[in-house]
Amino acid sequence: MTHTHLDHTGCLHELFRKMPWVELWVHESEGEQLEKGDERTLYGMAMFKSMCQSQYRLKDGDYKLKVHRKLVGGDVLKIGGMTWDVIHIPGHSMGCIALYEPAGKILIPGDVVYADHDIGRYDLYGADPKQHFDSLKLLSEMDVKMLLPGHNRIMNSVPDGYIAKTLDQWKGYLVSIHK
Ligand SMILES: [Zn+2]
Ligand SMILES: [Zn+2]
Repeated sequence: MTHTHLDHTGCLHELFRKMPWVELWVHESEGEQLEKGDERTLYGMAMFKSMCQSQYRLKDGDYKLKVHRKLVGGDVLKIGGMTWDVIHIPGHSMGCIALYEPAGKILIPGDVVYADHDIGRYDLYGADPKQHFDSLKLLSEMDVKMLLPGHNRIMNSVPDGYIAKTLDQWKGYLVSIHK
């Protein structure tokens, strides 16, 4: 998983129930939180925690989970005949990762960057606007043809400089908030 916010991890109990062989792989920083039952990143903020817990009938500790593999930046994952590079891109949360497939130039950036020059929020627990800036900068230097973001829509042919332009649009917010 690209990170452990509830809108991405909420399905895990159902997945484990229906497919017991499924393994949970996340960045080590958020993996340690899940194993300890620290749900601060999972819910992001107290308001979301109370809202989600009442709406979905969840209780504290429901997302204390076994993590099968803790990823770090630089890991290379060989899955289904494809090779994916793990890139640590904190900012939206502390353990955000992108997965990059160099052969097809495919990027799965989680909630760090979306289509339509949008980016993920940078005000939740463990988020950091300056790190988000640095992560977008790192992604902007990569050759990306297909973008598969965590929300909105897939981009099948990403224009050259798309992430750089997105960063340019947001940098005033990311940098001034950091000051
Ligand atoms: Zn998120
Ligand atoms: Zn999300």
